[in-house]
Amino acid sequence: MKARVLVLYTGGTIGMTPVDPAYPEGTRRPGTKEDLLRYLPPVRDGIEWELLSEPALRPMDSSDVGPREWLAMAAAIARNYDGWDGFVILHGTDTMAYTASALSFLFENLGKPVVLTGSQTPLFHERTDGRLNFLNALRIAGYKAVRLPAVPEVTICFGNVLLRGNRARKMSTSDTDAFESPNLRPLAAIESEIFVDRSLARPRPSDPFRAAAAMCEEVVDITIVPGLRAELLRALICAPPIRGAILRTFGQGNPPNSPALLRVLGDAVAAGKVIVNVTQCARGFVNMYQYENGRALVDLGVTSGLDLTPEAALTKLAWLLGAKLPPAEVRRRMQIGQRGEQTFDLMRVPAGDEAGFAADRVRHAFPMDGDVLLLVEPG
Ligand code: ASP
Repeated sequence: MKARVLVLYTGGTIGMTPVDPAYPEGTRRPGTKEDLLRYLPPVRDGIEWELLSEPALRPMDSSDVGPREWLAMAAAIARNYDGWDGFVILHGTDTMAYTASALSFLFENLGKPVVLTGSQTPLFHERTDGRLNFLNALRIAGYKAVRLPAVPEVTICFGNVLLRGNRARKMSTSDTDAFESPNLRPLAAIESEIFVDRSLARPRPSDPFRAAAAMCEEVVDITIVPGLRAELLRALICAPPIRGAILRTFGQGNPPNSPALLRVLGDAVAAGKVIVNVTQCARGFVNMYQYENGRALVDLGVTSGLDLTPEAALTKLAWLLGAKLPPAEVRRRMQIGQRGEQTFDLMRVPAGDEAGFAADRVRHAFPMDGDVLLLVEPG
């Protein structure tokens, strides 16, 4: 069986060329599509691929990629969705985890693979890791032709793993195995063959595919540091245009227990801003009930980011706020998995109703003003 894969080239090291050709190891900049095509074979293992010509997407360093580009990529895939079996996005590694997360939320009922890849060393370089990354990504996207199971979601294929895009993080500036998903096993191991873990497959959607067309840009990501002064936090979080903030707290979701700091957070929530608590730790999840310091945030109306990566938390918040939902609904949906981005759901139910949840799916039940907060493994 043959497969057809559409490739979007958005830039990044994989397609970069030296600013001064006399110094190949010197400063690099994004190369053109023609540069790229010189190094990549047009047909491979029964997989036919084409490079999309899309004026809204010029090759760039991924440090320049943001909501505008995420929406342009989503729209380009939506326009071409029906004609192709899968999609590969060549992208810089620096913000690849943000783009993968953003696309995962923008795509509703995605039923085909969308695989991001790039490299640490450019294709023009003889020791490039880009060629193999590209060929592996092509096999995941063109799964039909190479008899692999379908992975119909947004993924990152890099080095020796295929990762769920909204669980992935760039962990190394230079390793060829640069990405990990700290709270989820890889979707596939890439060895001499590719081994897809079928137990992590997401259900195939039956409703039609669509791409959302808006993202809120008025969101910030703030790291709490020891001794952070309340007036500095106020300047960062209470400015009028800000509609949402990711707050990177300590451990299981704890800030310093300073009344002045907590007052700032309470004022921000009262002003309708959505504040999402994620941990500064690489692994594990936020449990604001474990310590008094965290519990103070629950009482203020701060939302739990559970085990969302900061990249997934930021883009999920930008997507939900872009959908123009009221803040209470944004807070509710932030705590419930939408695209496999988190291990648990956190929901508030009237006391007694928790009996309706299968006992083996309920991890914790926390009493809360007459209701119960349930931490539930999605079914
Ligand atoms: N600065 C580059 C980028 O993200 C790094 C890379 O691709 O590895 O575009």
